[in-house]
Amino acid sequence: MDGEKIRILIIEDEKPIADILEYDLKKEGFEVMSAYNGAEGLNLAEKLRPKLILLDWMLPDLSGVDILKLLAEKYNIPVIMLTARGNIDDKVYGLSCGADDYITKPFDLREVNVRIQAVLRRFRKAGEEWQGKEGIHKEGIQIKDAVIYVDERTVIQCGEPVELTPKEFDLLVWLVTHPRFVFTRTRLLDEIWGYDFAGDTRTVDMHIQRLRKKLHAGDRIVTVFGVGYKYVSKKD
Ligand code: CA
Repeated sequence: MDGEKIRILIIEDEKPIADILEYDLKKEGFEVMSAYNGAEGLNLAEKLRPKLILLDWMLPDLSGVDILKLLAEKYNIPVIMLTARGNIDDKVYGLSCGADDYITKPFDLREVNVRIQAVLRRFRKAGEEWQGKEGIHKEGIQIKDAVIYVDERTVIQCGEPVELTPKEFDLLVWLVTHPRFVFTRTRLLDEIWGYDFAGDTRTVDMHIQRLRKKLHAGDRIVTVFGVGYKYVSKKD
């Protein structure tokens, strides 16, 4: 861990649960802070800039969705939600609002640790893939029989250029450089079209449909029912 501890913030109003998590994660070598309501959680997120947040879905002051939205507006911090057992609606809704994973209560502490490590790894990898785009720019990104050249904004499939609109291209690059991440239509609209875009989420669906038609690797853009889209490479 390079000497420096990875900082995790727990937002959970049930103090005994927060305490157990905090104790266990400290033992695993994390630096851990707890907040017992949403406002305090947001405050600590601002102050501490944690690498990951464990967010209880049911808090006394703010809902999990509110907190996710407020966090997403300002930071790029992965969030794992803590939800009540068997509440599928909460999980799907949470994921659709931008949570990166969920853990069901009562949880096994080993599972918590494994999920934290997995989310951190995925997050780091996506960041590196994106930041390391120098390499991507030169060599291109291979997807099945096509290569995306980010600098030249071209896609060559079986030796032939694929005609993509600028937005189709941007959407493709975004998904491909964030493999396995599930994005909601709204998030994709924000990322690719910008917050000011007046269109609705069907725009995203239309662009995805066209990408699927134009690219042999289009089937790697997977619909996550009730949530949105993700890109999966062959090895996934
Ligand atoms: Ca709670």
